[in-house]
This record gives sequence, C-alpha cells and structure tokens, in this order.
Amino acid sequence: MTTCDFIIHDARLVDGSGAPGRHGDIAVDRARIVALGDCGAWRAATRIDAGGRVLSPGFIDSHTHDDLAVLRQPDLPCKLSQGVTTVIAGNCGISLAPLEPANELPPPFPLLGATVDFRYPTVAAYRRAFDRSPCAVNVALLAGHSSLRVGGIAGPLDAPADSTARRRMRTALRRALADGCIGLSTGLDYPPAAAAPTDEVVELARVLADFDGAVYATHMRDEGDEVVAAVREALEIGRSARVPIVISHLKCAGPQNYGRAGEVLALLDDDRAAGQPFAFDVYPYCASSTSLLPQFVRDTESVLVAESTPHPECNGMLLDRIAADWQCSLAEACERLYPAAAIYFQIDERDLERFIRHPAAMIGSDGIPSMQTPHPRLWGTFPRVLGHYARERRFFELETAVHKMTGLPASRFGLADRGLLEVGRFADLVLFDADAIIDRASFERPTEPCSGIDTVWVNGEPSWRDGASTGARGGRFLSH
Ligand SMILES: [Zn+2]
Repeated sequence: MTTCDFIIHDARLVDGSGAPGRHGDIAVDRARIVALGDCGAWRAATRIDAGGRVLSPGFIDSHTHDDLAVLRQPDLPCKLSQGVTTVIAGNCGISLAPLEPANELPPPFPLLGATVDFRYPTVAAYRRAFDRSPCAVNVALLAGHSSLRVGGIAGPLDAPADSTARRRMRTALRRALADGCIGLSTGLDYPPAAAAPTDEVVELARVLADFDGAVYATHMRDEGDEVVAAVREALEIGRSARVPIVISHLKCAGPQNYGRAGEVLALLDDDRAAGQPFAFDVYPYCASSTSLLPQFVRDTESVLVAESTPHPECNGMLLDRIAADWQCSLAEACERLYPAAAIYFQIDERDLERFIRHPAAMIGSDGIPSMQTPHPRLWGTFPRVLGHYARERRFFELETAVHKMTGLPASRFGLADRGLLEVGRFADLVLFDADAIIDRASFERPTEPCSGIDTVWVNGEPSWRDGASTGARGGRFLSH
C-alpha cells in the first residue's frame, strides 16, 4: 500500500472532458491527483465520504477582472464559494500589469482599482507580489492592450499608436509573455483603445505567435449594431497573427439586435473561420455591467446605477428615474454621476441560450469585485449555469456544463495541468450536490452566496468548506 494525503470516496466523478460521470474514488498526494476510480492500492490518514455527490475539477473563471482582488482579498469568497479555483485576469484590455501610469487613468481602468493601485511595471513584479502573499485561488494573467497603450503612447490615447509607440508596446508585450502572461486582451469598445486601428492590434498580436499557447482575447469593438463587423475584425486579427482567439462575453447588445445570435454564430462557424481556432466566454444573465458612460446608454432596455462616487444616494436606482428627478438628459445624468458603474439590461434570453449552448462557449463571470453593489454574476455565475441552465432548463447535461467551466477553458488557455480529473493533474477540485446547487445572488441582493457547494480544494488544500473559507491560501500564479 502506498500512502497519500487524502482520499475522497463514493463520488460521482465528472471529469471535465464532457464524458458521462462515473462512480469512484480519487486519491491526492502533494497537490496532485495520484489515483482515480479504484483507489484500493492507496492508504490515507484522511478519508472523505462524498456520499455520492459530484466531484469535478475546480471551475476556471474564463473572464475576470480579479487582477487586484487576488492581491487584496486573499480568500476571494465571491469566487471560491462558487467552486472557482482559477481566475483568468487581465481581460478587456485593462490589466493591472505591466503598467505604472504617470497620470490619472481613464475609464474603464477604475473598474480594476484606483490609479495608485497600478504599480507593477512588469508582470514579473506582479507575480512576485502574488507569490509573496498568495490568494486562495490560482490566477493567470492576460496583458491588456489598453495598459500597453498607456505605457507606450507618449501623447493622447485617442489616436493610433505611431511606430515608436508600437515598438514600445511590442517590447512590453514580449516581456510580459516571457514573465508568464498567457496572452493579450483588448477592449476596443472603450476610450483608451477605440482609436486603435486593426493593424495596430495585428502587429501586437503577432508577438503572441512566438509563445506557445498564447491567445488573443477580445472585448470587441462593437457588441450592438456592428457586432458582425466586430466579429469579422476579431477573426481577421486571429488569422493575420496566426493565433487562437477568444471573444469575450459574446452578446448581441440592444433590443434592436435581439435574435441575431444565429447570424453571429454562423459567421464563427463559417468555413472561413474553420481553420481559425476560436472560443468565447459567456455569462448566464441578460444584463451586462461596466462603467457608466453615455455612449453605452443607447442600446439598452434600462440602466441600473450600481454605484456612483459623487452620488452614492443613487446606487440601485434606474438611470431614467434619476434623470427625471434631476430634469436632465440621460447623458447629462451620466456625467453628473461619474465616476460610476452600471448594469445594462440589453441581452435577449434566446440569444443567450444559443450562445451558451454552443460547443465553443466557456463560462466566464466578468464580475467586478471592486463594486459595492456588483452585478449578481460576481457571486452567482457557476451555480446558475449548473443549477438553473443545466438542471432546471435542461440546456445541456451536467457533464457538458462542467466541461464549459473546466476542461474547455483549460485547453483554450493552455493550462496544461488543470481542468480535468486525471492522474498527474493538480488537485483543484469541487464537491457539490447536483440536485441542490443554485445561485442566490440577485440584482436586489447581489452578494448572496450560492447553495450546494460542499468543499473546494485548490492544489490539494481544502480551501472552502461548509459555506466558509478555511483560511488556506494555496493559489498559484499560472503560466504556460
Ligand atoms: Zn469586457
């Protein structure tokens, strides 16, 4: 008999590949899975009875803005409580590193933190900060195009980068990737990047091709009326730079674009795209959330002010109500409320269904942990997919839902030792009750933890148990 750290027995093993679950045990030693199925040859001081509940790989949140949160909130309960063991940070063009700005940062940077929080001129410095004081979950980082622009462009950001700035940005990206970044992200819909022409992004994305597994993740230039043109641009960038693409929080925003999911997916599935590896992330809600900006207010059914620095009394109120009270236009109300964040009701449930069921769809929360009144996706995304969309609505089998949050993102982001129950992989694990798991966070009570999660292990350490953090801080900085 060989001794290991612990054995979980009598579990329904859902391995993250999408294959049907099977009954069995799992043995873990020194942070890794050492046996699976029949663990009769192993002995352990600790034996955990799963009581037939589901044991799956820990969930990978494919789309986060947790860059600062993993340094500041070491338990990260909003994620750990859902079974998330790895977060992909640095999305939408804004990464905390590499960036040490000289001036006040424009929106949407405040979603991540205050300008003074951006003090990691290299990814190596960020990584050291994480390693000195690790979080309960693993983190992998994308380098943000907007962050590179702020660091590389000497003049205003509302112009294409000139050749000097492009050279600086390429050098900074190359170094970020050498320091462990897993790819590049853009936020072409946002002010610090909107002036970047396609060829500026292509030039930068070409750097990725020298780094095995590096991806191009994009919050596209337009998610509303011009969504098709924006998808074409993303595909063109991937093709020209010869890199896999990940489209962030795929949607057709605005009531006038409801029903266009089929058109967008047809384009992605098109022969032209067939040679182009792609994936996309989706959150399971019909409302988005980001900075409150006048240009975003047009394409929505309604806008809920999540929080405003100058007018906290308006938090939780509808924007049109505030504008009516103030007897001003919506645009003027936005300006008076700024800096502010909002929730935009602008997605069709049937489009969401088409997107989330697509085989290339991964689950990503896009939660913003700095917000006092966040979108409920921050606390509810993963249990909502498993409980509401898999169990109640039967969009897909439980195994498919788990695949979208484990094996699929691990392979798309090149996290080789994660995402599957397999001997030799890291023991990021979640034990949950498939009949009970459900989100409880709502727009009214957005920080309500879910129910149905039993225990979460990160690199073999029990980190969340019976509704509370264990205080373990076993997360690692992940690179290729
Ligand atoms: Zn985004």
